Amino acid sequence: MSKLVIVGTVAFDAIETPFGKTDKILGGAATFIGLAASQFDVDSAVVSVVGGDFPQAYLDLLKDRHIDISGIEMVKNGKTFFWSGRYHNDMNSRDTLATELNVLADFNPVVPQNYRDAEIVMLGNLHPAVQIGVLDQMDKKPKLAILDTMNFWMDNALDTLHEVIKRIDVITINDEEARQLTGEYSLAVAAKKIQNMGPKYVVIKKGEHGALLFNGGNAFFAPALPLEEVFDPTGAGDTFAGGFAGYIAKTGDTSFENIKNAVIYGSTLASFCVEKFGTERMLSLSQDEIAKRLKQFKDLTQFEIQLT
Ligand code: AMP
Repeated sequence: MSKLVIVGTVAFDAIETPFGKTDKILGGAATFIGLAASQFDVDSAVVSVVGGDFPQAYLDLLKDRHIDISGIEMVKNGKTFFWSGRYHNDMNSRDTLATELNVLADFNPVVPQNYRDAEIVMLGNLHPAVQIGVLDQMDKKPKLAILDTMNFWMDNALDTLHEVIKRIDVITINDEEARQLTGEYSLAVAAKKIQNMGPKYVVIKKGEHGALLFNGGNAFFAPALPLEEVFDPTGAGDTFAGGFAGYIAKTGDTSFENIKNAVIYGSTLASFCVEKFGTERMLSLSQDEIAKRLKQFKDLTQFEIQLT
């Protein structure tokens, strides 16, 4: 089993969907990633920052799942990162209503000493300069560095984002963001262009339409399960990334065949995340439920056809 370092926001979210609305609840990229990865019982640490307004009970939720939180700095007189979004009726697109960086604006990440030799690094969504700061602190180049990002950073820190993209092995990005990053409409062409920027593996997430994996001449597609209830898609991308990274950390195998399985695990875990608001579903998820859904995934995509 490999050690896993996770960096990303630990946040307050306020969410509106056609089904309801929340006040400030627990959110953040690193929160969703950590919860998903914890399903694999890996040795993981979250590096992030929160303000003095962040409840200890939220940090305890991570600690209870054996996630090392010594790399989560608390700025007593600061406010926690806050994000608010409203989903459209199709639940596939959303408007960001607010992004308040607060303590994230001056954050200098510190990777705990005993995680600087981690083989797997999951650079979750936050300022690319912070993502670079984490890579710089690792003792040696990790076996696999995975990056997730979003349009906000393309709009606000594109040059720095390009610098970190050069240094990673896997990027997970959604379809619209892949198009924005490359200026290409075709996702196959966009994936090629992104591979030329650095990462060997490009994972393009397409929400309810599944995820595509590109690696050199190889491609793989995983559908999303056709769910009867999608309640709140917030954190689905991060949960995908956490499932992906957690599975690789557990298996230690970075071959294309195994990365395909990581995409399946990521998709499976993300399919739970959307069933309730925020982190609620991920907090009550059992191994049995995951196993059942993996089987559903397999059944959904298997067929026998006679080729003449
Ligand atoms: P996802 O739905 O997977 O894109 O992730 C939503 C989560 O990302 C929410 O919990 C937010 O707190 C967090 N988030 C939203 N905007 C940003 C941003 N610009 N940087 C880092 N995290 C963000």
